[in-house]
Amino acid sequence: MNIHEYQAKELLAKFGVPVPAGHAAMSVEEAVEAAKKLPGPLYVVKAQIHAGGRGKGKFKELGPDAKGGVRLAKTLDEVEAAAKDMLGNTLVTVQTGEHGKQVNRLYVTDGVDIAKEFYLAVLVDRATGRIAMVASTEGGMDIEDVAHNSPEKIHTMDIDPATGFMPHHGRAVANALGLKGDLAKQAQKTAAKLYEAFLGTDASQIEINPLAVTEDDKLMVLDAKVGFDSNAMFRHKDLAELRDETEEDPMELEASKHDLAYIKLDGDIGCMVNGAGLAMATMDIIKLNGMFPANFLDVGGGANKEKVTAAFKIILSDPAVKGILVNIFGGIMRCDIIADGIVAAAKEVNLSVPLVVRLEGTNVEKGKEILANSGLPIVAADDLGDAAKKIVGEVKQAA
Ligand code: GDP
Ligand code: MG
Repeated sequence: MNIHEYQAKELLAKFGVPVPAGHAAMSVEEAVEAAKKLPGPLYVVKAQIHAGGRGKGKFKELGPDAKGGVRLAKTLDEVEAAAKDMLGNTLVTVQTGEHGKQVNRLYVTDGVDIAKEFYLAVLVDRATGRIAMVASTEGGMDIEDVAHNSPEKIHTMDIDPATGFMPHHGRAVANALGLKGDLAKQAQKTAAKLYEAFLGTDASQIEINPLAVTEDDKLMVLDAKVGFDSNAMFRHKDLAELRDETEEDPMELEASKHDLAYIKLDGDIGCMVNGAGLAMATMDIIKLNGMFPANFLDVGGGANKEKVTAAFKIILSDPAVKGILVNIFGGIMRCDIIADGIVAAAKEVNLSVPLVVRLEGTNVEKGKEILANSGLPIVAADDLGDAAKKIVGEVKQAA
């Protein structure tokens, strides 16, 4: 689960991480009011979307010469003009995809004079199975570019879970950023607080870019991207409230309401499978047969009629889907119950594309009988290879 920059900064501030003062705003009036509460004379008006690269982004409605989603303003009139430009308009950045994201919230912050911009992140390093801190002097720009062009400028430090964050980790961060004296101390302290925030919130990533050194030698978090481990959200009811559903893919959101693991992909074949491993295998074998999956969808072990119907509706609401492959292993759930669910769901949603079903497991014969007698154009398959061949054949024939 991801949150907005303003929410991330408010959260980090609670852990003692230094951030500039700021206020969220949902309207132009609120943006001006927010600026009035700040000391000035420099303000920053920032589009709040769940994507980075806002500064260099472009608003669809404003044309290529207009400024992006992070604007410096020197007067309240400039704050007002920036807010008017952004609210309701669609910001396209390197991270939003070509469709961009509509800006519905702003963050108006106290502007700082920047001397240097660094990068500092806390994340889970899957290679070591540990929390790692990543620091670079090359902040403010795309860290992916830095990693590609000058990997030696990125420093990664593992943190042993048995010791937690130690003073030497803090010194290593300060060193990596080339800081000395008081600024090195500030870096050590900030790194320690970020680690504390990471653990305390069950975060999956905290990315600070830029971590700025101000002209008066203060270390400040100017941009923060924070994501949490969704599996731990039951421990953090207060954080769960920060979820902004308008930022999420509508189909993935619908799926999460039915407890379905769904991820939209780029291909043509909608997949409905139980178990993540079987889902991966199904996607692989579709590719092997020359087409691509339109989604990953795991209906889970206890799939019932309601879940199957919800899954069907989600798959069919995707205009890219040209055929559906159902691949279910009836272990805990019996195949005849699943077949009933598929038939009911296919009738309810008015199936408009070819449907191939492969069932295996308990009561498979009974299940196949139900499908065959349903009066629906369901193509039965005997095994995984057969199923993939059949759905690809059906879709090509229909095209
Ligand atoms: P992003 O483009 O989505 O990553 O948004 P950021 O919050 O990182 O802002 C982009 C850039 O705007 C930063 O790298 C800074 O160079 C600049 N910026 C952000 N806040 C301030 C500020 O308070 N003062 C100044 N001078 N520049 C800022
Ligand atoms: Mg940034």
